[in-house]
Amino acid sequence: MSFSTLGLSNEIIRAVTELGYTQPTPIQMQAIPAVMKGNDLLAGAQTGTGKTASFTLPLLQRLSESSHKNSQSEGYPPIRALILTPTRELAAQVQESVYQYGKYLNLRSMAMFGGVNINQQKRRLRNGVDIVVATPGRLLDHVQQGTINLSNIEFLILDEADRMLDMGFIRDIRRILKLLPRKRQNLLFFATFSDEIKGLAASLLNHPTMIEV
Ligand code: AMP
Repeated sequence: MSFSTLGLSNEIIRAVTELGYTQPTPIQMQAIPAVMKGNDLLAGAQTGTGKTASFTLPLLQRLSESSHKNSQSEGYPPIRALILTPTRELAAQVQESVYQYGKYLNLRSMAMFGGVNINQQKRRLRNGVDIVVATPGRLLDHVQQGTINLSNIEFLILDEADRMLDMGFIRDIRRILKLLPRKRQNLLFFATFSDEIKGLAASLLNHPTMIEV
């Protein structure tokens, strides 16, 4: 199986080829077609399996196939995809992947986490961003200040959701979920399955494709 048989565009294939990827990893082979079909996803995968590309590549593909809906609302332009991560380090790392894989596409992304100047983040959001990779706390800071528009989110991705639960982010996550439109695609990634993950998946996912690598 190759990246082109998975239905990814030449721009994306060019970017991954430049990174030295010759073929998709097992999780990518399973996750990419499911996400391209529009399915929700519940995926168990460790770091090192290529899990980041397994959600980022089809996300970029889907977003690049359609332009965002026009928003009538004033103020901050809507973002289209939200990726939540437990830590700043992971947010930065995932955003770097989004940037690398999408560098031949016309999509804008940013990482959003605490400890960096919030005004700079507000300026970026004001100018328009398609994909935000955030830790829950800083995202909620922007929500409180009215500087992020989540009303048109098409994709929600929880990366390392089990770690987010371990770190006590469940209340933050539930607050964020209430702000999102109902019609959206949800992808949930975890390393270790638990009752908490089961509960979160049950409340979040709609007939998900399940993958374990
Ligand atoms: P991850 O599991 O997302 O942390 O990825 C682990 C590492 O595998 C990263 O350094 C990626 O750049 C790399 N990687 C992801 N997909 C592929 C692929 N299809 N071929 C080769 N390397 C890959």
